[in-house]
Amino acid sequence: MIQILNKILSRTTKVIPIPKYCLPSISKALIVAPHMDDDIVGCGGTIHRIGQAGAEVSVLYLTNGCRGNSNMQYDEQLGNVRRLEAEKAFHYITGERFKNLFYMDICDECVSKHLEETDDLKKILMKDEYDAIFVPYVLDIHPDHRAANYLLTNVLEKIDKKITIYFYEVWVPLIPNLIVDITASFSEKCNAMKMHESQMATKNYIKMISCLNGYRANFADRDEMLYAEAFYKCSIDEYIQIISEVRQGLVY
Ligand SMILES: [Zn+2]
Repeated sequence: MIQILNKILSRTTKVIPIPKYCLPSISKALIVAPHMDDDIVGCGGTIHRIGQAGAEVSVLYLTNGCRGNSNMQYDEQLGNVRRLEAEKAFHYITGERFKNLFYMDICDECVSKHLEETDDLKKILMKDEYDAIFVPYVLDIHPDHRAANYLLTNVLEKIDKKITIYFYEVWVPLIPNLIVDITASFSEKCNAMKMHESQMATKNYIKMISCLNGYRANFADRDEMLYAEAFYKCSIDEYIQIISEVRQGLVY
């Protein structure tokens, strides 16, 4: 873990790495969301902005959400409710310009048991020419977020594609090389977050994203930037190398 942090830091000549502040140019994006709401928490503002700029956005939800309650008890009905909430929020945040919503229906906290089930994700990636994949930061505290990267790597190693990977933040801040100003889209991000009513009942996610996105904007020293999302952007080759090094440390 220390090695990978050193590697990221050593890619700059500055004492403190300075991220780029811009909206990336994206035509077709796939958001890999281990849980139904990670897409909005981690990159809802950016999804809204690239959608407005004409990008086609799809999402893959890895887990079925059946344990997304405060006591982590299995509740099939909750899974159905979360799916409807996620669809409503994703349709809204993309401005109805979404392409596909995909599901793998894995039980919550079990993604690491399905790392060899690569067929569905491989089909998704082979069917469309994505130029961007968004995935949670590999050093996140949630095991499903780390395992999502191991699953994605198992697929990317088998296909020959040129896609830019964007790590996004959920529970752990990352060392960013890209900051997207989402001030103009923050109200839409909050509206989409509120559509996840079952999750809003368990935690004040509006407060969480306000703090995280406000903290990110504050680094820019630009008065007009109030909210921002942070990413680590890299090529597939670099991504596979990063994940390989993390896996050698057996961070499951
Ligand atoms: Zn999650």
